[in-house]
Amino acid sequence: MSQQTNSKVDGKSLRKRKKGSLTRKYICELYEAGFTIKEIAHFDGTTSIIINRILHEENITIKERGYDKGKYLYKHGIAKRALELGISLDQYSRLKVIQMLGSKCISCGETDTRVLQINHVTGHESKKENLKWKEKVDIILGGNEHKLDIRCANCNVLYEHEVGRRTSINISLIEDDIFISGGPVNIVSPMVYIIGETKIDNDGLQAYLEYIGVPSWSTNAPSDIEKLIEVYGKGCYGSYDVKLNPNLSMVRTNKNEDYIKNIIEKGDGSVLEHGFVNFYFVDVSRVFTAELCRHRVGTAISEKSLRFVRLEELNWYCPISIYEDDESLTIFSNTFQNLSDIQRELSRIYDLDNQHSFNTKKTLTSAMRRLAPLGLATTIGWSANIRTIRHVIEMRTAPEAEEEIRAVFGEVGRHMKNRYPNLFADYEVEILDGYPYFQTKSVKV
Ligand SMILES: Cc1cc2nc3c(=O)[nH]c(=O)nc-3n(C[C@H](O)[C@H](O)[C@H](O)COP(=O)(O)OP(=O)(O)OC[C@H]3O[C@@H](n4cnc5c(N)ncnc54)[C@H](O)[C@@H]3O)c2cc1C
Ligand SMILES: [Zn+2]
Repeated sequence: MSQQTNSKVDGKSLRKRKKGSLTRKYICELYEAGFTIKEIAHFDGTTSIIINRILHEENITIKERGYDKGKYLYKHGIAKRALELGISLDQYSRLKVIQMLGSKCISCGETDTRVLQINHVTGHESKKENLKWKEKVDIILGGNEHKLDIRCANCNVLYEHEVGRRTSINISLIEDDIFISGGPVNIVSPMVYIIGETKIDNDGLQAYLEYIGVPSWSTNAPSDIEKLIEVYGKGCYGSYDVKLNPNLSMVRTNKNEDYIKNIIEKGDGSVLEHGFVNFYFVDVSRVFTAELCRHRVGTAISEKSLRFVRLEELNWYCPISIYEDDESLTIFSNTFQNLSDIQRELSRIYDLDNQHSFNTKKTLTSAMRRLAPLGLATTIGWSANIRTIRHVIEMRTAPEAEEEIRAVFGEVGRHMKNRYPNLFADYEVEILDGYPYFQTKSVKV
């Protein structure tokens, strides 16, 4: 971090700045340093909505910290020092705690902070566990360091074996199996990443509630999406409060779980479309992506281009029936290997590495992909609204569906139940053939 940036951290000089003049980078840094969105907006002379949008565009999870906490960390110099050093609060506090504990492994004396780990000490054992951010701050401010010790990563693993928390086996007992002896290579498992979700602009929502006359309306929704769905649902009948609609003699209690349960049971699925979740499905086959793309309503899709991205080593998903039969597994493995070789061979024939025209490369890459199989592992970005996500989970975890899509949507269902407990509370999950099957009485709301 440059000197120039350091000097900007002073609130007084910030306040004098022109409207909207803070750089995006600096807005992110101020947020990381514990300033609230409101405070940054004040420095920048602009609105919280703009600051929120910038943080959102920079992919920063916007979780408004309390005003006091931001000030508190800043006052104690933790945030300020981290900002000056150009590292995150988390990195700073980790190093600070390591320093307070003597900066070296208690077992071998290693001092390289990159490999030092902080452990909880419980009785005569030390428990390896990531320290929570708040714990680190408490330690820095309050000196609870006697509850901790430091070992390097190596000594930590050995220690865990010694105290029986990990089991070891003599390497000579490991036989050469099919993976080691030139058997199937490049088998991959599908992965589900959630990279985004709809968030509420609290200032905007509050302004709306004030305008319609219910400024103190609230709900116990566990997530922004669930809250948003309640807001939109109640907006239809003005049912935030009886005073908004003379036709109402009562409104439901502000329990989000009850409200959403009722919507789902009645089949009022359209309000569920207000919440969007953004996924990446990685190492999924083109079999999977072709099936996924059949679900068109309420989705957005960005699939990795095999026209632009040249294939080399082909990764693949191995269906269980193939995996369990040695002969078939060998056929699959050899075929994928041959096809990988063919891709490389064609690249060589056209000398693609030295080809300068991107257009020519694109044309050739596109031609070569015709020799890639459906089972090829690839990547697809998928976003969908809650109504669609529910429908696809129901269809694609059903036992009739293909195993790979069952595995992926079983995982999607698990994430959804954790993140949005009220929106997915009605699902009973049964394990069939090793895959979760999500069932509900309220299908296709
Ligand atoms: C086990 C299984 C096997 C399958 N086998 C095959 C197969 O062999 N061949 C094949 O081609 N496909 C197959 N499919 C795909 C299937 O036919 C559907 O295309 C796919 O599941 C998408 O679901 P959906 O039709 O509900 O569409 P979505 O896009 O998920 O839409 C959700 C709902 O919106 C409504 N909707 C969507 N589009 C329209 C529209 N244009 N007009 C009016 N209402 C609409 C419908 O009520 C629809 O159910 C299979 C699917 C499964 C689960
Ligand atoms: Zn050590």
